[in-house]
Amino acid sequence: MYLKIKNLNKIFEQRKGVQNINLQVEEGELITLLGPSGCGKTTLLNLIGGFLSPDSGAILVENEDIVKLSPEDRPISTVFQNYALFPHMNVIENIGYGLKYTSLKKKEQLDEAIKYLKIVGLEGYEKIAIQNLSGGQQQRVALARALVLKPKILLLDEPFSNLDVKLKVNMREELKYLQKKLKITMIFVTHDQEEALSISDKIVVMKDGEIVQIGSPEEIYYSPANDYVADFIGKINIFYKNNKKFMIRPEEIQMVFSKEGEWVIDSKEFLGSSSLFYLKSKLNSETLISQVFERKSSEFLVGDTVEIEILKKTY
Ligand code: ATP
Repeated sequence: MYLKIKNLNKIFEQRKGVQNINLQVEEGELITLLGPSGCGKTTLLNLIGGFLSPDSGAILVENEDIVKLSPEDRPISTVFQNYALFPHMNVIENIGYGLKYTSLKKKEQLDEAIKYLKIVGLEGYEKIAIQNLSGGQQQRVALARALVLKPKILLLDEPFSNLDVKLKVNMREELKYLQKKLKITMIFVTHDQEEALSISDKIVVMKDGEIVQIGSPEEIYYSPANDYVADFIGKINIFYKNNKKFMIRPEEIQMVFSKEGEWVIDSKEFLGSSSLFYLKSKLNSETLISQVFERKSSEFLVGDTVEIEILKKTY
């Protein structure tokens, strides 16, 4: 196992922090720490990076406990949310900065920096001042600056949260591509569930400083461990029948026209490629959400009576 975290605890005042963290990451995996603000994602990342020391527990990289090592001595680099670039240095100086402290000669340092400048798609920007770059370009520089050190593990703390939606999606795809190409192990922090579902090999869902579920995006989405996970990851219908609780994703509820149907379409929310239909029961106070691809959704109008077909239960 590449990275192994055993019984890790770090408690601040008022029982805040992280506790009982057990996690294993394989070489070349991209795992995401996901959860709402304050659940302990950054604390866990800072413990791995060495910016915080734990109260107890072990962090092993290839079987070596790194807990006692300072951040510079860990085989780990971090990309921060605010990029944390050096404003008085140009692009290539920023990328090559960490190499000054290696045994590489000046020329080799420059060659390496240029190699990673190209990898992140910034060829030609060598001499540009940091403040003249867009947010997306700055984040690429931060990524190159971290990657050039060839860390065994790259930590990314909400790296794309300051970017607009379109750029964010592009950067996500590029990161995933680079991760596969360079076979680098990455731990990515986000509170954005869509981002987590789209890039992760494995998602670690956290709540109040503890891990509540670890699984592939599909496992987390279709087999959530509990209500908290189900509700946090996308929309979910929760209802009870015969003393049993059912949770069903909106896209698993199909509407069929039926005058005698139990459900009435109360409202519709247009989302672009699909629409959400909010249904009300004629028999009781139950409500449901059905998600329909836009091509089919124009067939249904608010006020229509429908029956539902459930394609697949979530859990
Ligand atoms: P966000 O998404 O808002 O960054 P997070 O999931 O990264 O949140 P953390 O920053 O890890 O959460 O914080 C976890 C908890 O520990 C929070 O309740 C926070 O207030 C608390 N905490 C974090 N750092 C400290 C500290 N240095 N001293 C005291 N409490 C702290």
